[in-house]
Amino acid sequence: MALLQISEPGMSTAPHQHRFAAGIDLGTTNSLIATVRSGVAETLPDEHGEHLLPSVVHYNAEGGVVVGQKARMKASQDPQNTLASVKRLMGRGKEDLTLLAGHLPYTFAETDSSVPRIKTVAGEVTAIEASAKILSVLKRRAEETLGGELSGVVITVPAYFDEAQREATRDAAKLADLNVYRLINEPTAAAIAYGLDKKAEGIIAVYDLGGGTFDISILRLSKGVFEVLATGGNSALGGDDFDHAIAQWLLEQAELEQTHDPSILRQALMVARDAKEALSQQAAVDVQLGEWQGRLDNTVYRQLIEPLVKKTLMACRRALRDAELDKDQVVDIVMVGGSTRVPLVREQVAAFFEKEPLVDIDPDRVVAIGAAQQADVLAGNKPDEEMLLLDVIPLSLGLEMMGGLVEKVIARNTTIPITRAQEFTTFKDGQTALSIHVLQGERETVEHNRSLGKFVLRGIPPMVAGAARIKVTFQVDADGLLSVYAEETTTGTRASIEIKPSYGLTDSEIETMLKDSIAHAGDDMALRSLREQQVEADRSLQALDAAMQSDGEQLLNESERKQLLAARDKLARERENQNDSEALKAAIKVLEKAAEFYVERRMNRSVRDAMAGHRVDEF
Ligand code: ADP
Ligand code: MG
Repeated sequence: MALLQISEPGMSTAPHQHRFAAGIDLGTTNSLIATVRSGVAETLPDEHGEHLLPSVVHYNAEGGVVVGQKARMKASQDPQNTLASVKRLMGRGKEDLTLLAGHLPYTFAETDSSVPRIKTVAGEVTAIEASAKILSVLKRRAEETLGGELSGVVITVPAYFDEAQREATRDAAKLADLNVYRLINEPTAAAIAYGLDKKAEGIIAVYDLGGGTFDISILRLSKGVFEVLATGGNSALGGDDFDHAIAQWLLEQAELEQTHDPSILRQALMVARDAKEALSQQAAVDVQLGEWQGRLDNTVYRQLIEPLVKKTLMACRRALRDAELDKDQVVDIVMVGGSTRVPLVREQVAAFFEKEPLVDIDPDRVVAIGAAQQADVLAGNKPDEEMLLLDVIPLSLGLEMMGGLVEKVIARNTTIPITRAQEFTTFKDGQTALSIHVLQGERETVEHNRSLGKFVLRGIPPMVAGAARIKVTFQVDADGLLSVYAEETTTGTRASIEIKPSYGLTDSEIETMLKDSIAHAGDDMALRSLREQQVEADRSLQALDAAMQSDGEQLLNESERKQLLAARDKLARERENQNDSEALKAAIKVLEKAAEFYVERRMNRSVRDAMAGHRVDEF
């Protein structure tokens, strides 16, 4: 694996070289791709002028695959082979399916693999593979429009996506042959699109009402870093429910509420959807279902959907409570998702937060636009100052040193991506392997930090202690994935490990670790210096033992040897019993003083040995 596999923003390109980068909103209902051209981020349409690509994939018996609008039209005829809303399955294991499967029209294959496989006429497919098809269509669209290959993309994911769901998204991108600069949270992308990251700080609420889902995210922006304080919402509430409410009303008006005819139900839903979208612009709309003709006006429409809108506000209240915030602390409200075009939604949100929400950017496109801006920066198309600081390392990362001490390599709150290298050396003469123990946390000693992983660097050429040069590089990529490489620089011997430091650590655990570190800061410092002196003492004792073994007989007389051994044993005892680092340091000094004459004799001898047989001017 290459050492700096992930390019660092701002350093990656020469200024004159523009790279094609794009932002992708991989949505449950619709997906989009956007890019920055001449400084402006815009979504890219297909050849029919459509920006939104329905997130639907249809598989046919010939092994063919259709994506988008054409696939969506197959959904009702051929639901088994038409995968829609696969985002809900991303990163989900078989054990999650019991909850979801009942709502899905698919047949799942019996399989040993933990990833659920959906049976289609074209074979078994996973949500990852279906997502990859959607991404491929968007990739092609962008590359055809831009006239070149994409060097990288930013893909958005819901803020509540866990590691497995994010990993699944990255896997889909890999299958689609896309280089992912970074995954960013959808609400963060929306906030970026509105330029909120340029503000110094504040609390931002992102209200995202899509087709089938509602998400509310409470973000805190400080010094360019977005922190997700709380997320909430309802994974089964969206514009589709508005359609259902209107369709129900239509069926009642047409006296068809008893019907089970799927084609009438489908027609009712389609009429409902068109009526809904028209009512975002106008006060009333003519509607027709079967024989029945009538008019749906705003008053009735509002009554139909008001209970649904109220539900979203309840979720907002809950999210604020989770974040321990009052609604008047929210500085900006960003509206995302097609359903926020509904005037009643805007009004109710404004009334709830007592503030006008931001609606100027097309709510369908705002996430993709923010992602495109971020991608442009990450591609190196912007000067360094524009680098967005989106993520920080929550806890310091470091290595175990002799004495059970932790040496921090990357401090907490460092923004990622980041690469830091530090040099270490061997402790013993002839040491040929070095154990690398990677730790996370703020405390000074190993036992008080979280162990992330261990590996061993072998094949170090035998040298005297302290002579080997081992460079250890910590690299945290944009998604928080940590790679640690160790290299012995004279021989190039290497070893490495990849770790996900955030894995399995909740916010509250991070908080506890931080609080502990502050509470124990004083003790930790004292313990650290004691451990350092213990290591020092060990080193002195070992050096003396090794020396006496090799030439003590020749260079020391009996009484000198006795004297030295007595001094040695005194330090060894202090090493075991002394709890005060200063006292131990003094004891080390005493031994060093006592051994000074011996060290001198050894040096003289080695110079003599080295010169033996050579002429003086050779040196
Ligand atoms: P998702 O994030 O789930 O992929 P979108 O953000 O694309 O979904 O939102 C899709 C929803 O927005 C659909 O329910 C659609 O009917 C609704 N929608 C789109 N345009 C309008 C409009 N003008 N008025 C009301 N609803 C709309
Ligand atoms: Mg969306």
